[in-house]
Amino acid sequence: MTTYQSLIEELKDKEVKLVAVSKTKPVDMIRELYDQGQRIFGENRAQELADKYDKLPQDIEWHMIGHLQKNKVKYIAPFVSMIESCDSLRLLSTINKEGKKNNRIIPVLLQMRIATEETKYGLTLTDIKDLLNSDEYHVLDHIKVCGLMGMATFTDNLDQVRREFKKLKKAFDTIKEIYFMDDTSFKEISMGMSGDYGIAIEEGSTMVRIGSLLFGARG
Ligand SMILES: *Cc1c(COP(=O)(O)O)cnc(C)c1O
Repeated sequence: MTTYQSLIEELKDKEVKLVAVSKTKPVDMIRELYDQGQRIFGENRAQELADKYDKLPQDIEWHMIGHLQKNKVKYIAPFVSMIESCDSLRLLSTINKEGKKNNRIIPVLLQMRIATEETKYGLTLTDIKDLLNSDEYHVLDHIKVCGLMGMATFTDNLDQVRREFKKLKKAFDTIKEIYFMDDTSFKEISMGMSGDYGIAIEEGSTMVRIGSLLFGARG
């Protein structure tokens, strides 16, 4: 079995979705995985994502997983399946505006900062509550908040990684209970990458974002 097939088997048992992270990788490699059945791919740059969308089969579900500047939303708004890296109300407003222009509702995740590294983007639990309580949020009718996304600290300390994933799961449960109790769309916890997806799944991940394990190390 290929790495892909064994990974898919493992995830299927656990009902966890796979986002194959294809950033920096050529379209041939993406198509190879597509031919094996993969349909969800993740990219971290809007223009690269839009280029690949043009060159590859139309039934691919593209997830934006990287920091997104407001002026780049327009490149992906017509087709993107999910924007996982929403880290401000202003970005959500822009996505909403572009969703409206394209006559569609764009699914999004709120990115929470769970890592201790200062370089990681994301909202605190308080930020998320403030956002969801705001009047501005309540008028956004062309986005759909489907859950939370987070990245653990890049470290060999697996206890720390586990603690950070637990924190995201707990935040998800809190937000679900306060704001989305009757909303079945709010269900995704996107956490886990090549090095830590096993721990993420044990801690409640519904969606893992895996790149190097499938495509090899990035240069
Ligand atoms: C690159 C990236 C991944 C995948 O990382 P790997 O370690 O290659 O699996 C997952 N999530 C985000 C946000 C990324 O930027």
